[in-house]
Amino acid sequence: MKITRVRLFEVELPLVHSFQTSSHKKSSLTHILVELTDEHDSTGWGEVASPTHPYFTSETTDTAWLMATGYLVQSVLGVEWEHPGDVDGCWAKIRGHEFAKAGFAGAAWDLWAKANSQSLAAGLGGTRSVVRSGVSLGIEPTIDILLDQVDKQVSAGYGRVKLKIAPGWDVLPVQAVRQAYPALDLHVDANGAYGSDTSSMDRLAQLDAYGLTMIEQPFAPRDFPAHARLQERIATAVCLDEAVVQLDDLRTMIAMKAGRVLNIKVSRMAGLTVAKAAHDLAWNEGIPVWCGGMHEFGIGRAGNVALSSLPNFTLPSDVSGSDKYYARDVITPAITARDGAVDVPTGPGIGFAIDHAWIAHNQLRYFDSEVPADQSGRQ
Ligand code: MG
Repeated sequence: MKITRVRLFEVELPLVHSFQTSSHKKSSLTHILVELTDEHDSTGWGEVASPTHPYFTSETTDTAWLMATGYLVQSVLGVEWEHPGDVDGCWAKIRGHEFAKAGFAGAAWDLWAKANSQSLAAGLGGTRSVVRSGVSLGIEPTIDILLDQVDKQVSAGYGRVKLKIAPGWDVLPVQAVRQAYPALDLHVDANGAYGSDTSSMDRLAQLDAYGLTMIEQPFAPRDFPAHARLQERIATAVCLDEAVVQLDDLRTMIAMKAGRVLNIKVSRMAGLTVAKAAHDLAWNEGIPVWCGGMHEFGIGRAGNVALSSLPNFTLPSDVSGSDKYYARDVITPAITARDGAVDVPTGPGIGFAIDHAWIAHNQLRYFDSEVPADQSGRQ
């Protein structure tokens, strides 16, 4: 196969409900959609789901745009390839920028699966027809409000609830939710909010009493030793998220016994090729995985669903329906959850049609490798 044209669409979609992060309030999200065209005029689609600001990762929408238009487009144009894994080799020299690469990798996988008349899930080696989905709840103003939120999600059929925790919002909310829902699959995610000092360790160790499925990324992304110390001390599984960007990070996690569960985020790991390799390596090591999300639009979300159909995704993934976030998505039909589960699409590629009109309506920037750079700037 050969990529003959690349188009990029920076798209801003309004959110159904605005949400508060540690830094600011968001009422819309902006992602970059990647369309690759091959020599037979077939197209594949991927999504760069980088946040706008550099708080989860060092990347932003702007850095991804710069990397895509300045390097990644040129790296893939005209290259002959047989398998999407080959396309990763095009950008092997470019360090970092995993979110930007993930958009291109996703489009190559979609293109390849379509060329083989198979679903993306089948192309990746998926074995499930339905993926179990969990929900993630933020830090709420009060425990009563949190309990209301949990009740809403449990009533909607979600079998796993994740609570965001941080110093000052940890043991008491976990205790309250556990008392109200003794059998709920419950886990917590600190996004690296804790220091590795003794009092933080002691605090986190108290969570061991509540039957959590896992404690996710309590310490800073690179602090493998702190995660290993906590894992040695508690019975609850420690899960790594931000810490594992490359396969080598997963090897470090395994070697240091820094956790017993892995959250695979396709964007964080530079796309489906590396994500699948991480799944395979973790499976060999007896480490169960689940798929985390970045509030993807439908294209990236479809990739997450397909990936989650692989056999070692034995824990519920963050692949809830896109209708929770977007009134109208960039694919049709929208991805929806039913009783806390999402069907794995069986159509060719990502298995959804692209809503070109909605993309055009919400487009902020456009790039076309067939149009001179000075004519494809911000619109
Ligand atoms: Mg996380």
